[in-house]
This record gives sequence, C-alpha cells and structure tokens, in this order.
Amino acid sequence: MSLAEFALIDRIRARTRARADVVLGIGDDAALLQPRGNEQLVVTADTLNSGVHFPAETPAFEIGWKTLAVNLSDLASMGARPAWCTLAMSLPSTEPAWIDAFADGFFALADEHDIVLVGGDTTRGPLSLSVTAMGQVSAGHALRRDAARVGDDIWVSGTLGDAAGALRLWQQGRLDVAVVADDPDLEALRQRLLCPMPRVKLGQRLRAYAHAAVDISDGLLADLGHIAARSEVAARLEVDTLPMSSALRNALGRDDARDCALRGGDDYELCFTAAADQRDALHALAEALSLPLTRIGRITTGQGVHGDDLPNADGYEHFVLQ
Ligand code: ADP
Ligand code: MG
Repeated sequence: MSLAEFALIDRIRARTRARADVVLGIGDDAALLQPRGNEQLVVTADTLNSGVHFPAETPAFEIGWKTLAVNLSDLASMGARPAWCTLAMSLPSTEPAWIDAFADGFFALADEHDIVLVGGDTTRGPLSLSVTAMGQVSAGHALRRDAARVGDDIWVSGTLGDAAGALRLWQQGRLDVAVVADDPDLEALRQRLLCPMPRVKLGQRLRAYAHAAVDISDGLLADLGHIAARSEVAARLEVDTLPMSSALRNALGRDDARDCALRGGDDYELCFTAAADQRDALHALAEALSLPLTRIGRITTGQGVHGDDLPNADGYEHFVLQ
C-alpha cells in the first residue's frame, strides 16, 4: 500500500465516531466488535459500480450517501438497528477533494443512523464502492421475506417510481444528475435517485405490526415477487392505489409514471405485509413518522404477483445503466 493510500485511510478514519461496542476500529488487521448478548447479528453487503449502479458523472457526496443508503435499506427491511459497517473502495485516483466529498455524504448518513465505520479496504482500479453493514435485532424478531400470510394486506412506504423516473429523464437527456435542476419536479426526482432515504426507523417499528418485509431496490413487482415466492403465496395488487409523487406524474405523464412505480428500481422504500387488524396502528405509525404508508393489495393463495391491468407482470426489468 502506498503512502497516499495510508493518508487516504487516515482522512476517512478522522471522520468516524466512537461507539461503546466497538472494542477496536480502523487501524488493526480486523475490527473487534461486542454484540449484545440476546441479539442476532444482521449482515448485508452491496456494491455500487460507476456506470452500472450510478451515472459516472454523479457527484462524490451523492455516491458516498448512496453507497451507505442501499445497505442501510437492507438492514431496515429486516427490522434491524444499524451498528457497524466496513467500506471497500476501488478508486481510479485519490483526489483529496473527491474523498472528502464522498466522506461528507457517507458520514452524514452514518451519523444520522449511529452506524460506525470499523474497517475496510482501499485499492486502485475502476470506481467501485462496496459496503458490508451489520445491525442487531432481538433474537427471532427480524422481518423476513418468507413470513407473509394469506389474508394480509400489502403496504408500501413513501412514493414509488421517482428514482426510475429520474433515471429515464437522464437517459433521455432531460436531466443532468450532476447539477441542481431548475424545475422543482426534476430536482425532487434527482434527489430521490441520488440520495435515497433508507427507512430505518420504519423498519424497526414494523417489527410490532408486519409479517413480511422487503426493501424495493429492483422494483415493486420484482421485490414483492420475492415475498410471494419465499412465503409460497400470491400477491394481488390494486394498481390504481400505488402511491406516486406529483413530481413523477408531472415529469413523465400517467402511463410512464405508473410503469416506473411498478417496475422501476432504486426507490429503497419498504414493502411489507400485515394482518388487516393492524390498519389503524399502521395509519397511526405513518402519522408518527410523517411518512405515508399506503395499502396496495392483498396476499392470497397461489403464486406470483397479479393485478388488473398489470403490464407484463413477469418481465421484470432492472434499470441497469449502459
Ligand atoms: P490489511 O493490509 O491488513 O488488510 P490495510 O493496510 O488494508 O490492512 O488497512 C489498514 C486499516 O485500515 C485496517 O484496519 C482496515 O480495515 C482499514 N481500512 C482500509 N481501507 C479502508 C477504508 N476504505 N475505509 C475504512 N477503513 C479502511
Ligand atoms: Mg492485515
């Protein structure tokens, strides 16, 4: 490892906060962590490659934010409390300004959710960021994909399709992801693509109400399809009830907006199932968190995802950038 790489690690280490359960953080061959006695470890990893998972011209702050956000979203969907993470970086160069802006985005989100960076790896190569995130949940209480029950309502948080809408606009040359957009609708969509909000608080609160949960990274149809498959049930969507932002409708029109809401990835909202007698509690929770929760269908016997007017339900499309 070159001196530049040590300087880079020091620059990142200087941004990390303390946590009582980190016995040894960055600086040794490995970290030492002290999990709570009666809790299970929840572990997830996700990699973002430049030009594949984000447009190459994405600013460094937003790359840092999103690198952690997609991992926090996986912890959220399990109902876990975030605790620790590692960061493996493949970097074409070690520009201090780029590293600092990346760290600004990464640690803004890390500090908000009390997740501490305890180690990682730094190599030279095409721009690629890989995080392993760890959280904790009381034994047996994690939210899983395989726990939906026939008769459950299907719910979703926030609005759907905004990130995919931004990506389509970028692909059509109507949105520059690198600069603030003048049009407030376009700017709202750009933010949803670049700075997704992992629903960490919601996930933890849902442990009391939900049966199954998944985060929407590959699109509602695909991710709800995972719940259906793993739970050995069918999901029946009321497509007209899908929550969509006015920004998405204004920018794309009704049909494209709906297509983004159904099949677009990168929203990082939570989709979950809960018994019908939890409706009042979930509406109260939505109010308490100032986050819309919308009932979008029911779990039935059978398999797959169904709905009136559902276009091409099995043609899941991943929004992979070319
Ligand atoms: P080793 O060669 O033993 O794997 P390194 O010299 O690569 O260790 O790393 C030194 C320390 O810096 C280790 O504690 C490692 O976890 C940490 N580290 C390396 N890169 C990063 C990074 N990008 N973010 C956070 N910690 C890092
Ligand atoms: Mg070593």
